[in-house]
Amino acid sequence: MIFEGLSDKLQNTFSKLRSKGKLTEKDVKDAMREVKLALLEADVNFKVVKDFIKKVQERCVGQEVMKSLTPGQHVIKIVNEELTALMGDVQSKIMISSKPPTVIMMVGLQGAGKTTTAGKLGGYFKKQGKKPLLVACDVYRPAAIKQLQVVGEKLDIPVFAMGDKENPVNIAKAGLSHAQKNGNDMVIIDTAGRLHVDEVLMEELKNIKSEVRPHEILLTVDAMTGQDAVNVAESFNDALGIDGVVLTKLDGDTRGGAALSIRAVTKKPIKFIGMGEKLEDLEPFHPDRMASRILGMGDVLSLIEKAQEAVDIEKAKELEKKMRKQEFDFEDLLDQFEQLKKMGSMDKLLGMMPGMANMKNQIGDVDLQNNKDMKRSMAIIQSMTVEERRNPSILNASRKKRIAKGSGTSVQEVNRLIKQLNEMKKMMKMFTGMTQGKGKKKRGG
Ligand code: GDP
Repeated sequence: MIFEGLSDKLQNTFSKLRSKGKLTEKDVKDAMREVKLALLEADVNFKVVKDFIKKVQERCVGQEVMKSLTPGQHVIKIVNEELTALMGDVQSKIMISSKPPTVIMMVGLQGAGKTTTAGKLGGYFKKQGKKPLLVACDVYRPAAIKQLQVVGEKLDIPVFAMGDKENPVNIAKAGLSHAQKNGNDMVIIDTAGRLHVDEVLMEELKNIKSEVRPHEILLTVDAMTGQDAVNVAESFNDALGIDGVVLTKLDGDTRGGAALSIRAVTKKPIKFIGMGEKLEDLEPFHPDRMASRILGMGDVLSLIEKAQEAVDIEKAKELEKKMRKQEFDFEDLLDQFEQLKKMGSMDKLLGMMPGMANMKNQIGDVDLQNNKDMKRSMAIIQSMTVEERRNPSILNASRKKRIAKGSGTSVQEVNRLIKQLNEMKKMMKMFTGMTQGKGKKKRGG
């Protein structure tokens, strides 16, 4: 998990501070030395660390903190605020042009995750009701065009390509007019990368930029490369001028140095973060939430957003009614599985809960999307007829046999699932009995 080490060390330092009633200047200095080491170990840019510590220390030895009744809490609050500021304070969104299409030019080195991110962004905006078009301008990396087409197909987003013999500037221009003709209000251009920043690449990107005049130039960098990612961002910004950064592979980066340095070094915001290889693993970057995560305060807002995305409120209400009447059947159970699946992985969810980040090590990761047991249970329900799902009591031996065969499971497994449903119903009966019986029953009865 990202910021694992940093998070542990900071929380350790702060719990020492919290346990003290009053703070002396030396206490603050000692704590700041620990914070400094923790940041450097997390691979944060040296100059960024120096400036950060200076600012925090100045604020911490001020009257307000020293005289406060809870100086430890005050220090944490200041660190939280300064961490947030370091990452850009507020969320930096993509500017949507009032004259569509909004043109986004994706740039970055090979392997950073540019093509994948182009697709993820397309998917992100499609979910918001936009009609994106992906434009394949990476004519050098073998299979890059095909890769974008595959991504487009998965997301049901059109891809504009002209093969790998055409000049990328021409492809970009043709893509733009294709979008205008076809009513696409968002154009995402996937440009070529190189192994290193070089003149030829920058020339080509500059040409596309001046011909297409994108609204946003988004640089994709790989978080796992740490300070190299920061250097790459600086080079692209100096040569081409970028509007924002997408930091990919944050799911594999345990240190987090790039996330904490990029904004301070380049003055350009991180706009999105890549949290996995799947096409939905893209999140808008919120500096305040990230700071909370680092300090172990969790990221409750992102968690709620994720839950809202996954849970269909109307369905949840309907389900609650059914539970009260004990009408819960296999169709409802299937809905539940679908909604659970949408939540993604347990690992990510736990990371967002306050104080839960370390639970992951204890329970291991449960991938809700690919959970085997859940998949088998779903297959069993899917092999039932609608009547059987609504009225499980008609499930006799021959029906069970048919269902087991249809779902590639066994009669025992079908029986187990039926038992599970019955037990759930029993539990519900108990709960509703408890809540409805409140006040009616005699005490101790
Ligand atoms: P490009 O050369 O910059 O276009 O890079 P690709 O889009 O082909 O991505 C390179 C590799 O990184 C692929 O295997 C992607 O699946 C992977 N990748 C991209 N973004 C992420 C991410 O956020 N997390 C993880 N774990 N892998 C990613």
